[in-house]
Amino acid sequence: MHFNHYGGSGTFLAADLLNVDVLDAPVLRRLLTSHEMASRDVDAAQAAAIGSWLEGVRPLFGEPSVERQITLVNGLLAAATTSVRVSMHDGNGPHLHYITGTDDPVARISAAIAGGLAVAVCGAGGSRLGRCSRAGCSVVYVDTSRNGRRRFCSTACANRVNVAAHRARGKSVVPRG
Ligand SMILES: [Zn+2]
Ligand SMILES: [Zn+2]
Repeated sequence: MHFNHYGGSGTFLAADLLNVDVLDAPVLRRLLTSHEMASRDVDAAQAAAIGSWLEGVRPLFGEPSVERQITLVNGLLAAATTSVRVSMHDGNGPHLHYITGTDDPVARISAAIAGGLAVAVCGAGGSRLGRCSRAGCSVVYVDTSRNGRRRFCSTACANRVNVAAHRARGKSVVPRG
């Protein structure tokens, strides 16, 4: 787990999970491992359960209203987390643990994601949970840029929009003479 004011692994895991086309068990296991989640032994049914739960997470990204984000994240917390503890171990500074009282990976992963997103909204600001501004692209991201003004998922999307805007300006020029 990584810990920071973006909510650590839970937040970045949420964005990565939302960006895969098909969230099957092997893909979920790979992403849980790369985000250093303790719960990573999931079967197909558990992957499907996480996938449908994540559809309630998706609207949080790119939502312009912080009030709406707070409502959404509180709903996720109420459904996923039973309690929160501060812990310090393995050379990490104090950080939050989301206690579920169960070994069920679906419950533990949902709790880690809901908790991480709550920390991100409070610590970094809801605008850091972004969605690509290119029409037709639904990729979500955590905006870790210094100025927090990221608008696109990638330079590829940014370039496509800029080229299109450039062409549109060119067409609107009234021919002289
Ligand atoms: Zn810990
Ligand atoms: Zn994009």
